[in-house]
Amino acid sequence: MRRALLAGLAVVASCLDPPPPGAPLDTPTQAAARHDMVERQLRARAVTDPRVLAAMGAVPRQAFVPAEQRDRAYDDGALPIGRGQTISQPYVVAIMTQLLALDGSERVLEIGTGSGYQAAVLAQLAREVYSIEIDPVLADRARATLVAVGAANVQVRAGDGFFGWPEAAPFDAILVTAATPRLPDALRAQLREGGRVVAPLERDDGEALAVGVREGDAMRWSWYGAVRFVPMTGEVRKTPPEKNGTTDEHR
Ligand code: SAH
Repeated sequence: MRRALLAGLAVVASCLDPPPPGAPLDTPTQAAARHDMVERQLRARAVTDPRVLAAMGAVPRQAFVPAEQRDRAYDDGALPIGRGQTISQPYVVAIMTQLLALDGSERVLEIGTGSGYQAAVLAQLAREVYSIEIDPVLADRARATLVAVGAANVQVRAGDGFFGWPEAAPFDAILVTAATPRLPDALRAQLREGGRVVAPLERDDGEALAVGVREGDAMRWSWYGAVRFVPMTGEVRKTPPEKNGTTDEHR
């Protein structure tokens, strides 16, 4: 019992350690594993955007996973990052990023920083990235990891993404990486006209990846298949949908 408890503590402690700044980020094995990941998990499937493939080939994913998961950093799946959360499967990160269709000029908001990996990928493809994480421990760790990998155009804030980041709005694109029953009105309001949202939305038949384009006070949604994400927590679970007829229309 005591032993199990100590082992548990060791896991938590290692989850909280970002890689030391200046440490070599890549071994040859890791670089080769990342190259394989891009070819077999992304290019061989539906990831075709050369900028997205290049970004996925550049970000050292092993820096964003706990030490004991590092050997599995380029596996074809999600991995635990501690605090009950996960880093998404590389393929899902790539597809969501591709759906945002970034050209490098954008200011992007991410909801659900988690490990910071998705933010680091976005940072390669957009001008500025703002990312909000509800768990302050994860937010601190992601901030440190992003510094360690040199992602200087990302800002991380601890807070509830339901309210967005009004001081940095308007955003050209918003990426939500936790499953939510709807797009909170504050996020739609902080998106520029014609701007794009990619989000896993909960529907009666399960979660589905959705792309929304802002048209005035409404969103036009299209659907890209079933996904599994950890739930968005906080205010979105407490506040009933705003009653202006726009928030639940994706159902
Ligand atoms: N993008 C992450 C993975 C996301 S996991 C990565 O690249 O590693 C989903 C994350 O959303 C979790 O870390 C969870 O704590 C966070 N989250 C859940 N509800 C949230 C909310 N209301 N606001 C901000 N973050 C939230």
